Amino acid sequence: MATLFTKIINGEIPGDIVYQDDYVVAFRDITPVAPTHVLIVPRAEIPGLATLPDEGDHLHILNAAKKIAELEGLTDGYRLVINQGEDAGQTVPHLHAHLIGGRKLSWPPG
Ligand code: 5GP
Repeated sequence: MATLFTKIINGEIPGDIVYQDDYVVAFRDITPVAPTHVLIVPRAEIPGLATLPDEGDHLHILNAAKKIAELEGLTDGYRLVINQGEDAGQTVPHLHAHLIGGRKLSWPPG
C-alpha cells in the first residue's frame, strides 16, 4: 500500500512540486506554517528517522534543501525539521523534512 507521499510523487494525488531529482521529490505543504513550507520526501518509502537505512535516497535530503532554499530565495535563513514519532507529531509515516522559511522563526519550537 503506497503512502500518501508516494501517491503525490507518482501523480496519483495532486501536489505542488517545486523540485525533484533521482532521489527526492519536494512539494508544498497543504497546510503551510510559513510563506515557504516545502516537504522534501525521499522516493524510497522509509517510515521515519527511527528506521533509517545506512544508505539510500534520504542521504540527498540536505543537498535538496540547500537547492530549494536558493530557488525559494530564502537568503535570510530557514529551518529544516524532521518529526519522528508520536511525541514529535509525525502524522505521515514516510520520512520527510519540512523546509520552512520566509518569516522570522521562534526558538525553541513547541
Ligand atoms: P508530519 O506531521 O508528519 O511531520 O508532517 C506531515 C505534513 O504533511 C503536515 O505538515 C501536513 O500538513 C502535510 N500534508 C498532509 N496531507 C497532505 C497532502 O495531501 N498534501 C500535502 N502537500 N501535504 C500534506
